[in-house]
Amino acid sequence: MQHIPSQCPICSGEVTMGKTTFSLDLQTGVVIVRNVPALICEQCGEEWIEDSTAAHLEKITDKARSEKLQLEMVSMS
Ligand SMILES: [Zn+2]
Repeated sequence: MQHIPSQCPICSGEVTMGKTTFSLDLQTGVVIVRNVPALICEQCGEEWIEDSTAAHLEKITDKARSEKLQLEMVSMS
């Protein structure tokens, strides 16, 4: 279980639940996932993604890689 901070360990800013965009270049193609739930520091913008969300992103990435998709763009909301 990943530790999710309630306060930013970098700048001590406040961390709130928000949405971010995940993108990854696989060489064979690019994966873009919008509306990814994440904890975001309001002060410095550092982001933390929960384990269950990270696992979901990995599935999307694996699918794009195995199907050699040039562009995979999905929304998690
Ligand atoms: Zn911060």
